[in-house]
Amino acid sequence: MNVEDIKDDVDMKQNSPRTRSKSRNISTTTSNTTATTSLKRRRSFRPSFLRVNSRLSSPNSPTQRARNYNHVSDAVASQFQEMQTARGISHLPIGVIGLTNLGNTCFLNSSIQCLSATIPLTDYFLGYDYRSEINHDNFLGTGGKLVKAYAQLMKDMWLGRQLTVAPVAFKAQLELFAPQFKGYHQHDAQEFLSFLLDGIHEDLNRIKKKPYIEDKDCDGTSDEQDAIEAWKNYLCRDKSLIVDIFQGQLRSEVQCLKCRHKNIRFEPFMYLSLPISVHCRSLEDCLRLYLAKETLSGENQWYCSQCQKHRDATKKTDLWILPPILIVHLKRFKFKENGRMGSKNEAPIAYPVRNWDLSRHVQSQGSEYPLFDLYALSNHVGGLGSGHYTAYALNRFSEQWYEFNDTHCHAMEERAFRRNQSSAYVLFYNRCQTARKGAPVIRRQSVSRPDLWPHTQVQDRQFREFTRQSRKWPPPPPLSETNSET
Ligand SMILES: [Zn+2]
Repeated sequence: MNVEDIKDDVDMKQNSPRTRSKSRNISTTTSNTTATTSLKRRRSFRPSFLRVNSRLSSPNSPTQRARNYNHVSDAVASQFQEMQTARGISHLPIGVIGLTNLGNTCFLNSSIQCLSATIPLTDYFLGYDYRSEINHDNFLGTGGKLVKAYAQLMKDMWLGRQLTVAPVAFKAQLELFAPQFKGYHQHDAQEFLSFLLDGIHEDLNRIKKKPYIEDKDCDGTSDEQDAIEAWKNYLCRDKSLIVDIFQGQLRSEVQCLKCRHKNIRFEPFMYLSLPISVHCRSLEDCLRLYLAKETLSGENQWYCSQCQKHRDATKKTDLWILPPILIVHLKRFKFKENGRMGSKNEAPIAYPVRNWDLSRHVQSQGSEYPLFDLYALSNHVGGLGSGHYTAYALNRFSEQWYEFNDTHCHAMEERAFRRNQSSAYVLFYNRCQTARKGAPVIRRQSVSRPDLWPHTQVQDRQFREFTRQSRKWPPPPPLSETNSET
């Protein structure tokens, strides 16, 4: 049995009628805590799921740390199954919930709908003992306030009975963390997403004390090894669910045009921000532009450590490791020097919905084949001042796409993907993994478990080609006996 630990949240003040009898049944039939605790729980009842943690126990083997979050998704899925059966087929599927516009907060609503459709992220907040991972001392975070508010919002959206949720409490916490979102001005959805994911990352950062590690400049002679080293150094300072789900690695190379000295770095990334030129017709074109070699000259000259002078140089970015969930942002907005939005590029950009094969753009020989399906996107329609955000997202139960426009949500046809090519703004892709329906396997990253890093498991290109053709992934390595994690 994977469900090892059962915890209810105890700081929600209000009783809620939603799913009351359902969840109470779950608590009382499986809880192994004392009668006093159960009584207390029933009194302060709120919609909640069984929560599991990172330990796995089974009758025949010792307790182990989970390598991934599959047991969380399985636990959540089985509880959703019960909810869905109890609810019948007359309703919209679970998770199709409108969000109240609190005054120009469509940027927030649209982004939240995309994140809510991110199965591993939502399952973590519904079914994982995330409180045990809150980093209360991280001055870069909020001591857990932001993450708790986000978790509560997810519970309201997935376990509630209302058709609309007002994200008031969540927005209040967000404002404390990022005061620029105070008030009722329109904001950039991408900027919001980036602040929110950073905030969640710092609140859940499993590193309590960050060591100082200098980024190493590499020369290109041992890329695979240097990339692994850089990932290890990164995990010494930053590891959280957000790293596990959303972060990949870029390789950037700068070369002096005078002496040919090279400087190569491997850096983590959480989203790709792609430029749009007049020649871009599809997302693939934007990606090619992003990956194209550029020249640094004039006031952008590069300081070459060999020449010890500023020099003209070339700069090239490559995709090294892609994360399980890939966020792609189209740079539609140009900003003025004062930070205000200047103009919007409404060029229609076609984007792949299924089987986006990025293998020709990925330079490393990572463990997973880079094939992606779209599952959510944020649209920006209209001009700068009067613009409006909506979202499209795939529902995990009905496998139907829905359009979310603040409180309004309705099923949509896939041909809508051709109509919104001028407004598609932030796109969310899932790495396809035939072994698990709907969501990729998320490996828990830590320094002590290099076997779970995304770099090393498949070593040769031929084998990758084979797995691509057969659409089968190699079996995971056997579970380690170690129970420690650093
Ligand atoms: Zn030089």
